[in-house]
Amino acid sequence: MTHTPACPHCGRTSETAVYAAAHARACLHDPAIRARTLAAMADDAHPGHAVQVRAYSVRRVTCGAPSIARLSTQYGSWADICATLGLLPAVANAQCPHCGAVFARRSSMSAHAAACPHSPAIRALVLAALCSAAAPGMAVTFWEYDERAAPNAPSSATLRGRYGSWADVCAAFGLGVPAMKMQPSKAHLEAREAAVTAEIAADLAAALVRHGVELVSTGGTAKALREAGVIRAEVALLDRSAARRCGGRGDAQ
Ligand SMILES: [Zn+2]
Ligand SMILES: [Zn+2]
Repeated sequence: MTHTPACPHCGRTSETAVYAAAHARACLHDPAIRARTLAAMADDAHPGHAVQVRAYSVRRVTCGAPSIARLSTQYGSWADICATLGLLPAVANAQCPHCGAVFARRSSMSAHAAACPHSPAIRALVLAALCSAAAPGMAVTFWEYDERAAPNAPSSATLRGRYGSWADVCAAFGLGVPAMKMQPSKAHLEAREAAVTAEIAADLAAALVRHGVELVSTGGTAKALREAGVIRAEVALLDRSAARRCGGRGDAQ
C-alpha cells in the first residue's frame, strides 16, 4: 500500500491523495485552520466552552473554518473535536447563567434566571424591597414587596413561582416570615377612600353652612349631606335646569 507524504503539521499519513487533501483542509494542527476553527467554535459568553453544533455550522462560514463533517472524519464526534481544541462542551441553552441549573426549556430557564438569587444584581434588588425597615431580619408581606420593588426587580408572583410560598421566598433570602395579615382588597381600599372623601366633603359643607352659604346639592352627595345634617332639602325640589346649572345630574331624585 502506497502512502502519500505525511501531514507537515501533525505527521498523519493518508492512504490516497484524496484523503490527504481532505485532511489538509481540516488539520487542527495547521495553525491557520486551528485559529479559524477556534474563532467559530469558542463561545464568547462562556470562556473555555464550545458553542452548540448548530451555532458552529453558521459561524464557521464567516470564519472560513472546516465543516463539521470534515472535522468529524478526522477527529470523531463533536465532543472529540471540542477536546482536540481544548474546549469544554457547549453550555446548554437552558442553563441558568447564575447558578448553572439546567431546564428542559429555554423559557423556563429565562423565568428562573430573572429571579435567580445567585445573581448578585437580582439578589440586591430583591433584598432592597424585601427587608422590613421596622423589623430587622424580617421580610415584608408580598403586597408590601410589590409596592416597594424597583421596576426591574422580579415581582412577588415571579418569586413565588420560583420558590413556592411567600414563606419559602423569605427563607431563600435569609429573612424571617412576616405575619400575613389580610391583604386589603382593591374594593375595600376604594370604599375606604370614598368614605374619607365624603367625610371631608361633609365637613367642608358644614363649614360653608356655618358661614351662611346656602348649599344646593343632588343625588348621592345630597343624601350624604342630609345624613350629615348639613342640608334638609335637595335640588330635586327645585327644578332640573337648576340642577344642571350647579353641575349635578338633572334626573337626581
Ligand atoms: Zn495534519
Ligand atoms: Zn439560577
